[in-house]
Amino acid sequence: MSKLVAFAAIQGGYNIVQKAEGKYQQMLEKYGPEQKLEFPNTAYYLPIIYSLLGIPVKTLADAAKPLEVARGLLPPHVKGRNHLPYLGPLLDAGMAALFAEELVEAFRYVEYPDFYLVSEEVDLDNGKIWLGAAEDAIFRKRGVEFVDGTAPGFAAIVGAAPSPEIAKEMAEEYQKRSIYIFMAANQGGTTFTEQLIEAGVQVGWNTRLVPFGPDISAAVFALGFANRAAMAFGGIKPGDYKRMLLYNKDRIFAFVNALGEVNAEWAVNAAGCVNWGFPTIADTDIPEILPTGVCTYEHVVANIPHDEIVTKSVEVRGLKTTVSTIDIPLSYGPAFEGERIRKDDLYLEIGGGRTQCVELVQMAEMNDVEDGKIELIGPDIPDMKKGDRLPLAITVQVAGRKFQEDFEPILERQIHHLINYAQGVMHIGQRDISWIRVGEQAVEKGFTLKHIGTILHAKFHQDFGAVFDKVQVALYTEADKVEEITAKAREIYHTRDARVENMTDETTETYYSCTLCQSFAPNHVCVVSPERTGLCGAYNWMDCKASYEINPTGPNQPIEKGETIDPVLGQWKGVNDFVFQASRQAIDHYNFYSLVNDPMTTCGCCECIAAVLPGCNGVMTVHRDYSGDTPCGMKFSTLAGTIGGGQSSPGFVGHGKYNTTQRKYILGDGGLLRMVWMPKSLKEELRENLLKRGEEMGCPDLIDRIADETVGTTEEEIMPFLEEKEHPALKMDPIMG
Ligand code: SF4
Ligand code: ZN
Repeated sequence: MSKLVAFAAIQGGYNIVQKAEGKYQQMLEKYGPEQKLEFPNTAYYLPIIYSLLGIPVKTLADAAKPLEVARGLLPPHVKGRNHLPYLGPLLDAGMAALFAEELVEAFRYVEYPDFYLVSEEVDLDNGKIWLGAAEDAIFRKRGVEFVDGTAPGFAAIVGAAPSPEIAKEMAEEYQKRSIYIFMAANQGGTTFTEQLIEAGVQVGWNTRLVPFGPDISAAVFALGFANRAAMAFGGIKPGDYKRMLLYNKDRIFAFVNALGEVNAEWAVNAAGCVNWGFPTIADTDIPEILPTGVCTYEHVVANIPHDEIVTKSVEVRGLKTTVSTIDIPLSYGPAFEGERIRKDDLYLEIGGGRTQCVELVQMAEMNDVEDGKIELIGPDIPDMKKGDRLPLAITVQVAGRKFQEDFEPILERQIHHLINYAQGVMHIGQRDISWIRVGEQAVEKGFTLKHIGTILHAKFHQDFGAVFDKVQVALYTEADKVEEITAKAREIYHTRDARVENMTDETTETYYSCTLCQSFAPNHVCVVSPERTGLCGAYNWMDCKASYEINPTGPNQPIEKGETIDPVLGQWKGVNDFVFQASRQAIDHYNFYSLVNDPMTTCGCCECIAAVLPGCNGVMTVHRDYSGDTPCGMKFSTLAGTIGGGQSSPGFVGHGKYNTTQRKYILGDGGLLRMVWMPKSLKEELRENLLKRGEEMGCPDLIDRIADETVGTTEEEIMPFLEEKEHPALKMDPIMG
C-alpha cells in the first residue's frame, strides 16, 4: 500500500475505534457494567480478543480493557504503553480496528438479540439471512473439515459483485474447489449474500456459502472462526498471539476478496488481515496501487477481473485445490454435499421409505468385470415426469489383485458422499435405507441415473485406484429386481457386521495409527484397535487397515502392539514406542481402556467426551451436538477446548459414539456400568447397542438407569435418581482409586 492508502487506512482505524468507544459509553449508560457480553453458545468468549489478548470478555465492564488496547495500538504509539509488535503502525491499526469491531458486534447481540440467527441455515421465509458468530456446535463440525482437508481454506468476501450472475459464478468456482466463502459488508447497500439468493443459490453453512453479516465489522466472525480453530484443534493457548497468528499464516489458507470500492474502513480491515497472513485480492483499481500489481509486503492485489479472481486468489495464497473433472453435466465437489432438495424443486425421489433403495459393493473375479461398464436396467429419468418415484438398486463390482473383501464396505460407504457431491442431487443414508432426491435443475442440465455409475467409476478410480483394477456398475429400477438385490444385500451386511464385531484386541497383533489430525493438533496420535475405534468416529480398525493398504505411506500405519504392559488398562510396549516417536516425544505412553489413568490423547474432533463424576462414583459422556450443561460442570465445547489439543488428561477422554458400546470401553475403570449420565439424544441414538451391551454386562435395563438432562445436570441433581434406580456404579469400587 502506498503512503496515501496507508494513511487512509489508519484513519479508518481511528474511525472504527472511536465509534466503538462512543457506542461503549452508550451501552454502559443503558445496560450498566454488569450486562453480559457474549457471542451465543461458545466457550471462546469474543474469540479474537480472547485468543490474541487472553482476555475473556464476559461483561460490558470487561470490554474496557480491550478497547483501551485498541486505542493504544493506534499510531502514534504513546511511549511505554503496551502495544503488540506487529509489522508496523498500519498493521497495528488493523488489529485495533478488529478488536473494536468484535466488541461492536457483541454490543449488537445485546441490543438486537434477533439480528443474527443462531443456526446453520438461513431462514428465507422470514427474511433472516445473517448467521453471525458460529456457535461451538457448528464451529466444531465445520472446523473439522479444515482438519481433515475436505475444506482447503476460506475466502472472506466483502462487498458485492457487479451482478447476481457474477456472484453466482464466483461462488460456484469456490464451491468446486471446496473452499468456504465467508461473507461480510455491503457495497452501497448491496451484499454478495443477497445477490446469491437472488440468483437462486442456496446459502448457509451446508453449502459453504456463509452469510456472516451485512457490515464490514462482520469480518470479525471469519477471523474469530480461524482463531477458534487454532485454539480447539491446534492447542494454541489464549493470549499466545505470536503462535496464534503464525499458526493461521501457516495452516489456515484464507484470503480476502474485496469487491467494489475499497473505503478507509475496508482498508484497515484488510491491513488487520495481513497480521493473519491473509492477503486481499480486489476487483477494483485501488488508487495508489499499481494496477494488477502484487505488492508482496502488503499482500494486496488490485484490479483483478471477476473471471480471474478465484484462480488469482488461490494462487496468491498458495492453496492447493483440485477441481473434479467427472463426465456428468453437473458441478461436482464436497461443497454441494450439504445442499437440500426441497419439495418444490424435487423432480424424482428414490427410497426414503416410499420406495426401496439399496447399495451394494462386492468383490468379483477379474474376468467377470469390464472396467467402466455402466448399465441401467429399467426406466431412467428421461422416462419420468416431475414428482415421480422409482425404486433403485446400485450394485458395484470391483476386481483387482490387491482387492480384499474387507474393502467392500469402505468403498460402499463412499457412495453416500460421492452422490451427494453432485450439484442438485441429494443422498441420505446407506445400505438398504438410502434415499436419493434429484432436483429439477439437475434434470434440466441433463442428469440421468446412469450418471451415478459414471460418478462411482471415476471417483473409485481416483480415490482407491491403488487397491483395484476394474470396476463396473449396474443400476436397477424395476421393483422386483430391487427386492431381490435387497434380500441378498441384507445377508451380506449381516456377515460383514459379524466379522468386525467378532474381532478382539487380544487376538489381534497389529493395531493402526492415525495421525490425520496432526495438521491441527501436532502431537496427537490415535491408535485404533478392533475394540477401540478412532475418537472422531470415522475410522475403525478395518478402515485404517484398508487405508494403509491403499496408501502405505499415509496417516494410518500398522503398529505391532508388542509386549503387554497392562492388560486391564490396555497398554502395550509397541504402541508406546510408536506414540512416543509419532508425538514428537510429547507422549510416552497411554492406556486404551481407562479415562482415570493416563488416558489416550484427545484431539478437537472427538464425537464424545467422557468425564469422571467422583460424587456419583461413575462417569458421564456428552456428544458434540448437545450444547447444554453437564454434571461435570462443563459443556461439550468447554471440555473440548480444555482437553482437545492432543494431550492426555486424566479424568477425561475423547471417544467415538460407537465406541461407547464396544466391549472394551473404559473397561479398566469398570466399563459401561460406570455410565451414570448421557444426553437423552445420545441415549436414543445408541439405544439398540446400549440394550445389547447392558445385557452382556448383566444389566439389561442399564439404559433406563442412566440419567440424562431431564433428570438433572449436576451430580447433586442426578444422585437421587441413581439411588432410586440402584445404578450399578454405586456398588462398584471407588472410581478414584
Ligand atoms: Fe483424527 Fe484420530 Fe480420527 Fe484419525 S482417528 S481422524 S487422528 S480423531
Ligand atoms: Zn482430530
